[in-house]
Formats: sequence, C-alpha cells, structure tokens
Amino acid sequence: MYNNKGLLIVISGPSGAGKGTVCRELLSHSDCNLELSVSATTRKPREGETEGVSYFFKEQEQFLRMIEEDAFIEYARVYDHYYGTPKEYVISKLEEGKDVILEIDVQGAMKVKKYFQDAVYIFIMPPSFEELKNRIIRRGTESAKDIKKRMRNAYEEICSVGNYDYVVLNDDVKAAASKISCVLTAEKCRLKRCKVDVNQYKEE
Ligand code: 5GP
Repeated sequence: MYNNKGLLIVISGPSGAGKGTVCRELLSHSDCNLELSVSATTRKPREGETEGVSYFFKEQEQFLRMIEEDAFIEYARVYDHYYGTPKEYVISKLEEGKDVILEIDVQGAMKVKKYFQDAVYIFIMPPSFEELKNRIIRRGTESAKDIKKRMRNAYEEICSVGNYDYVVLNDDVKAAASKISCVLTAEKCRLKRCKVDVNQYKEE
C-alpha cells in the first residue's frame, strides 16, 4: 500500500494570521516530508528577508516575462504587487513524492483549485480582529495606509473561508502547526490517495 505522489497543501489566511510562522514551525520537524514552495514577487524585500528563501524578488518586467513563459501555476496581484507560484519546482517535487506547501492568498488558492482538486486547502484564522490588527501594526513594515488596506483585505479573505477544507485557529503557533500535521496524516490515509492491493492479504 503506498501513496504514489506527494500531497499539495494550500495554506491561506489574511496578512497577520501567522501563516509564515506556522509553516516554519511545521517545516522544523525533521521527520516531515514537506517542501515549501518559494514564490516570485515584485514586492521589495523586507528586513531579514532573503532571496530564494523568502521569495524570488523580481522586477516587474521580469515577472511579466515569466507570465508569458507560462512559468507559474498561478499568479495574482496582491497589494499592488505581483506574486506567483513557480510551476516547474512544484510539479517536480510532487512527482518526487514530496509534499509541497503553497502559502498563497485566496485568489491564488482558487486558481490552483481549478487544476488541483486533490490538494488540501487549509485556512489559517487569526484569533480575533484586535489581535490581527496588532500583529500587522507590530510587524511595523507597512504604512498607515497599507495597514488599513491589509485590514480591509483581511476581512474579504476571511469571508472566503467556505472554499477551504480545513480551518485552523492560530492562537498558538505550535498548536496550530500540530493541528495541520494531524490533518496531513489523516489526508494521507484517505482511500483515494492510497493504492491498496487486497490480494496481498489473501492466503494462497
Ligand atoms: P507578503 O507581502 O505579506 O509576503 O504577502 C502578501 C500576500 O501574498 C500573502 O497573503 C501571501 O500568502 C500572498 N502570496 C505569497 N506568495 C504568493 C503566490 O505565489 N501567489 C499568490 N496568489 N499569493 C501569494
């Protein structure tokens, strides 16, 4: 009995829900078979962000060329910047049997859903409106105008939660990562993901 390909895991949630932190916690477990897909973006790097680890940072014309070359599974314009999921990397990892996480916004997730109905769609929910706002402010990387925009967008994203298979409240990073880990374990046991040869259990 075996799973023939890796699992595609799509994680969304509003800015400030803590998706990145939860994903890092998940990936820190050495026994996991997970790879995080690194997106391309036209956004400028924030302090502490590294090329090829946080994102592949691109100029707008480079990004537009990549769209023409069909290099993305999906791309979206979020907060005036382009973000896109690299096609070749994700497909090759899945073929190798690795589980791949896409940490992308709701628009992108819905585009992925058209092509990957078998993926697992998880929505990370912030504990409350207040906490969400505090997290965005505490990050201190956005202007007041950007914060307002992100809060409005957060509400719109939260309204899309009905399109996801699972919702995980992030009031504690370790607990949230552990819940996702349980979801992945359960998903891997789904009959549709396993090849079961009942004959191997039959007495000759
Ligand atoms: P940030 O600028 O805070 O890193 O990300 C802004 C938003 O863009 C987040 O919701 C993040 O999940 C989303 N995002 C990051 N990479 C991608 C991607 O490749 N595609 C899409 N559609 N959204 C992305």
